[in-house]
Amino acid sequence: MSGPRDWSPGEPRRPGVVRRVLPVALAFAIIACGTVYLRGDLQGLIGTAPGSPRSAAATHRLYAATRPVGGRCAGLPRDLDARPGVTLRALARCLDGMWAASLAEAGIDYTPPAELRLVRVPADAACGKEDHDWAGIYCPRERVVNVLVQGGDGRTAPMMFTLAHEYAHHVQEVSGIADRRGSETFDEAWSRRLELQADCLAAAALRVVGPRLLREQRRVAAADAGDPDGPAASYRQSHGSGASSAAWIARGQRTGTVGACNTWGAPATQVS
Ligand SMILES: [Zn+2]
Repeated sequence: MSGPRDWSPGEPRRPGVVRRVLPVALAFAIIACGTVYLRGDLQGLIGTAPGSPRSAAATHRLYAATRPVGGRCAGLPRDLDARPGVTLRALARCLDGMWAASLAEAGIDYTPPAELRLVRVPADAACGKEDHDWAGIYCPRERVVNVLVQGGDGRTAPMMFTLAHEYAHHVQEVSGIADRRGSETFDEAWSRRLELQADCLAAAALRVVGPRLLREQRRVAAADAGDPDGPAASYRQSHGSGASSAAWIARGQRTGTVGACNTWGAPATQVS
């Protein structure tokens, strides 16, 4: 049999099958391992890592929509707090119209959520039933927007922001910007970019409808002290700090465009 062992420097080279195949196999093995271990570095090198202006999510065609998203919402009742359910359903119809127009500008078909589910307890939601710590939740598989409606205290404004935030998750879903098929790495940093973009898009949609409620939302977010050991610490890991949230809400409110909400191309310091 010919192979590395039967060759000595004094003899002419007799390239055997193993000798010919081995270097190629080794090269492939090294490239394969390198690709796995250095994936993050390679993504950084070629500019497709999350946080790079050239990543798939940062260059999505959704950003071709350059007109501000938000407009008036004619169907809203005069008293927003009298019947929160009526207010939220009216706002949802407006959000459908706003996002249909924005996505059309980018050449993307918009489909409304399969259902807007206003629930009194998380157990009635389409998903996330086990988690009792949410004000709203979007179920991507069912495409259902769920908002927890706690009546009686006359505070519809935070629910309106929650609705707009969950709608933004629906937009991320139908536009494909939240696709998990690209070269992105899916970790908490990815989640923060997704959530902070939803905050920004919600503000863009509500800038005309609810400037005061956005101001209040920013104030509440900015008041979060960021205690690393507090109960909100893990929430901050996946959703971003209060300061980051307030900053992205301000951006969405000020500019109103989808492009202003490109968290995917933002440096890590802005999505902390
Ligand atoms: Zn969210």
